[in-house]
Amino acid sequence: MELDTPVLDNHLHLDPEHGKGIEAVKDFARVGGTHLLVVNKPSWLLGVDVEQGADFEAVFETTIAAVTEASEILDGRAWPVLGVHPGLVSKLVDDRGFAPAEARDLMQAGLDAAAEYVADGRALALKSGRPHYDVPDAVWDASNAVLRHALALGGDLDCAVQLHTEASEDLTEIAAWAEARGLDRHRVVKHYAGGRLAGPTPSVMSDKDRLAEAAERAETADEPFLMETDFVDDPDRPGAVLGPKTVPRRVRWLREEGWEAAIETAHVETPAEVYGIDTRATLG
Ligand SMILES: [Zn+2]
Repeated sequence: MELDTPVLDNHLHLDPEHGKGIEAVKDFARVGGTHLLVVNKPSWLLGVDVEQGADFEAVFETTIAAVTEASEILDGRAWPVLGVHPGLVSKLVDDRGFAPAEARDLMQAGLDAAAEYVADGRALALKSGRPHYDVPDAVWDASNAVLRHALALGGDLDCAVQLHTEASEDLTEIAAWAEARGLDRHRVVKHYAGGRLAGPTPSVMSDKDRLAEAAERAETADEPFLMETDFVDDPDRPGAVLGPKTVPRRVRWLREEGWEAAIETAHVETPAEVYGIDTRATLG
């Protein structure tokens, strides 16, 4: 099922122990997928009760092992994206009695641990964000401090930062925080995005409505975008998000609709601009 183009899913999870794991990669490859950015699952979903930054390493190592296995199957390759899920703040404050500032410190320490993997070349990018649901002011402030810490690490390391945030078409404030820390706004990626976004680069959930809007903006206004599924690989939530075959199938659909230049934007040009990766050179 060759598509004669690199096909990158910019955000999915692999859980070889509890989920489909490498079978999901085979499904992706079988319908023409070539490259993956694999994001570590939230620590609590892997049963890890973090106490200090180093405790995140078990979570990161699981992802790195899955990426190594995935790269053996893909015509292209996979890369790890490591970080701390913003929902952890609520687990710490509501379930474990942390003060917001204590939760902030632990989450920043987890990001510091992730940054070491980026620094030594074992991970491609960082993952951070802030809750997409309502939280008390003190928790919101702590979350924004964590997010800004991730942006500062991205600036220091010269690496991209994927963000999980509230649904929005305007995150220019976050883009300004990034640029104040030496990180270009295009290297900040909003995961689970719609078809348009001011500020960071949108990683668009691959349903047809969102993709049609993103493709049109790419071709008429030269706007960058990426495509993703946020496949969670969780047997308890089978229909929670899109399946691993979705991005290759939607690339085929974009081609049928005549959006050839947008395919090049999402699978070659934007990955190069955001992550410094060459999806064509890494094929074959
Ligand atoms: Zn995700």
